[in-house]
Amino acid sequence: MELIDLKAQYQCIEEEIKESINNVLRHGKYIMGPEVTQLESELASYVGTKYCISCANGTDALQIALMALDTQANDIIFAPTFSFFATVEPIPLLGAKVWFVDVEEDTCNMSASKLEDAIRICREKELGNPKAVIAVNLFGQTADYGALAKICQQQKLNLIEDAAQSFGAEFQQKKSCSLATISTTSFFPAKPLGCYGDGGALFTNSDELAEKIRSIRVHGKGTHKYENIRIGLNSRLDTIQAAILLCKLKLFPNEVKRRNKVANIYKEALQPYFWTQKQLPDSTSVWAQFCLQHPSIERSRFIHSLKEKGIPSAIYYPTTLCAHPPMQNQTVIDQRVAEQISKGIFSIPMHPYLSDSDQNKIIECLLESGSNNIKWN
Ligand SMILES: *Cc1c(COP(=O)(O)O)cnc(C)c1O
Repeated sequence: MELIDLKAQYQCIEEEIKESINNVLRHGKYIMGPEVTQLESELASYVGTKYCISCANGTDALQIALMALDTQANDIIFAPTFSFFATVEPIPLLGAKVWFVDVEEDTCNMSASKLEDAIRICREKELGNPKAVIAVNLFGQTADYGALAKICQQQKLNLIEDAAQSFGAEFQQKKSCSLATISTTSFFPAKPLGCYGDGGALFTNSDELAEKIRSIRVHGKGTHKYENIRIGLNSRLDTIQAAILLCKLKLFPNEVKRRNKVANIYKEALQPYFWTQKQLPDSTSVWAQFCLQHPSIERSRFIHSLKEKGIPSAIYYPTTLCAHPPMQNQTVIDQRVAEQISKGIFSIPMHPYLSDSDQNKIIECLLESGSNNIKWN
């Protein structure tokens, strides 16, 4: 059994994948070939934005977003303190400062009220220039963009959506990747929509930002290749990866349905005894991870019992972001909720190809190890 079974998916599309890779090998446009353009247009129409600009990976996508917004030294970027390191890594790289904001207990996503507190404290102390907010859609579920967008608008801050884990999810009938000034995603193989290597993309409705992002993606280019008008990166998506993604995009809507089916079975069986991630009203998740917490039993006991039965599990994430040594000189006002979650949370196998029998085995094992039957809440 695997936490995320990529081989099972490959078996469903093996012929199509080989054919499209071969196509690229034959036409030879390995960099920015026609598949890249086609993918960008299909992704933009899938999420409902005017532009999609692909790039080399989800971390670069965040860096490019910050660069497109002219992030500079002394600028302050607010970000949740419970996420993958890549969410905040580009901030100090650009010389800017991170202000970590605590998350909500029931969703693990950034708390809007704590964001407001952080912005207020930041402005009062005049410690730098509040510039942007990066909201993360953890485990496949979007943050509350209703509340976050309102705060950003009032405070004149740019909003960036880190949708690396949530491509395909919806918030109030709008697709993830269309919920902020700039949205970013990742096509790392284990993400809900993954390629067979590294890949990423940015989404926006702004003509001006789209043009800047395109320029930054290729060495800050101007109107032609050997005119460079700003400092940029070399961060293109390979044509072969675009060809692979075009194949996978055809399966994707069905995969999202299956992910939700698997999640619903887990919820039904486990929810009385475990914490599971709460969904916002009128919203759907793509369940990049299915996470659990138990009110009294240590997670190590569950992880151990699962392992004994050959069932993999993982901990996303064992510490808060500000606990990582390179982040220790950044600012955190409060992280009590994130700390609490990091001590108890663990993830179990979740992917569209999980069989009923494997899923039953996982559920049985968890219920047995939690056999004192203490209910959540
Ligand atoms: C995976 C991930 C990233 C980075 O994506 P890469 O393609 O691996 O660079 C950024 N943010 C979050 C929340 C992620 O899960």
